[in-house]
Parts: sequence; structure tokens; C-alpha cells
Amino acid sequence: MKIARFNAGALGLVDGAEIVDVSALLGANSGEWPPMAANRLIAGFAQWRPELESALATAPRYRLDEVRLLTPIPWPNKVIAYPVNYHAHGQEMQAGYRASNQGFFLKPGSSLVGASDQIELPALPDREVHHECELGIVIGREVRGATREQWRDCIFGYTCLMDIVVRGREERVMRKAYDTFCPVGPWVVTADEVPTPEALEMKLWVNEELRQHANTADLVLDIPGMVATASAVMTLYPGDIIATGTPEGVGPIRDGDQVRIWIENVGEMTLGVVQGNRGWSDVFQAPYTPPTSK
Ligand code: MN
Repeated sequence: MKIARFNAGALGLVDGAEIVDVSALLGANSGEWPPMAANRLIAGFAQWRPELESALATAPRYRLDEVRLLTPIPWPNKVIAYPVNYHAHGQEMQAGYRASNQGFFLKPGSSLVGASDQIELPALPDREVHHECELGIVIGREVRGATREQWRDCIFGYTCLMDIVVRGREERVMRKAYDTFCPVGPWVVTADEVPTPEALEMKLWVNEELRQHANTADLVLDIPGMVATASAVMTLYPGDIIATGTPEGVGPIRDGDQVRIWIENVGEMTLGVVQGNRGWSDVFQAPYTPPTSK
């Protein structure tokens, strides 16, 4: 199943070129705050599944290309992100560490946007803002101290994720925290439809230029390792998202660009880039050019 959110906060199942509205079943409505219907669906998915399947036959349908797609899980307890998790990206960034000996950082939920949104560049004229193409993992249950062997039981599904970042030497979390810096979507695909997450091809284009092309088989810290590492420290909750790290080929995005991400068996989405007029901070006063500058 492919779970998506659309229009004013409706919850839907994607069925071919259409989306089926299951908002009534899950109590999703546009006035809900915080918007937790997707978390409820994920937490109770085994119980909901028969009703969701019948809804495919009976609930209202819309054409997918006529709805506005929102980020599928707008209120995760956390977005966990692994830095430098492909060797070739570590080399291009001249990083002496890897996710396997560095661990993870967190991105704020407020940075999440969806497939029909845009990436807003902050007003930092002396800085490059880069794309990072990543497989997103969605956690399916509450768990602490999961072993590597338990990884499949912990995962609800997969999604496309861009980890957008202001390059620099300042605190990584701040540089990756801007609003719109975590596009996730266009939906979450349940794990049963992604039989080999350990070997997924993925690509990212800026306009027509293919910038990143890699396979999750090349992850340094693999998916079982990422689940075990995060859950060693924190309780994971249904709807938590893991950004698994980017391969080589990161580079700048600019006003007017179209950034497209595609992941095998997961999905594809394209977001436009717009230059905003907010986001300046004295923290970013010193100019910085990254080693990968293109
Ligand atoms: Mn990243």
C-alpha cells in the first residue's frame, strides 16, 4: 500500500493514478492539530488493514494529478539522519568519519514538506545550499534496544527523502533545520512492497542533469545497523523517519531549479526551488565554499 496525505490534510491510499480518501476511517480532518492521523494509521496498521482494503472499493477517489500532495507524516516524533553513510560521499566531502563511527543527528519536523511543495532557499548570499538524495525509512512500532535481527519488525515502510543543507562548518543541525529542508514523499510505501531495501537504485536530477545515482547496497552502516544504532539511544515510535544518508554527487540548488528524486520500488517526486528573503543569521556571516563546489 502507498499512504499519502493530500489537499487540506486528507489521508489517502494511492491506487494507480488515483488516490482513495480514507480520512473518515482514520479521523483525519483539516482542523486536526497536531496532525497525527498518519501516525495512528502506522501504529495500528495491522488492525486497520482490512478496513483500508475495503475502503479501496468504496471510499471517494480523486485523480492523483489533481490533488496537492502533502508530506505523508507531518508530525513524527523525530527525524533521525545518518551523515556520511556512503564512502564516495565521504571522500567528496573530505570527511574522516562515517555514520558507523559518528552516529546520527536529528532534523526538526518543521523542516518537512511534501511532493507538491517547494524548497525555499534562505537569504544567505555567500553560501551554497545542497541537495542530498536519500532513502527514507519509516518506523512502524514503539521499540527501544532493537537488535540488528529485529530490523524488519521495526520498519513500516519507505519513502523518498531529500536532506537539504547549507554547506559550512557551523552546527550541522542548524544548517539542516530550515523550513522546507526535508522534502519527504510522495507517499510511504509499506515494507511488503519493497522486498529488497538493501539493494535499491536511486537517482536525483537537478533540472535535466543527473547529479546522484547510487544503490543502497553501498550504505556503510546498513539498514539493520541504522535501526539498532538509533534504538540503542532512543525509543523509536510509529511514524519516526530515518534519513539514511546520501551518496556522492551532492551539489548546489538555485532559484528556479527543479529537483527530482526517484527510488526504485518507492516512488518519485519533483520539487521546485525558490529563493526566499528570510533565514539570514549572523551565524553564517563568514563565507564558505564546500570542497564539492560545482
Ligand atoms: Mn544527509
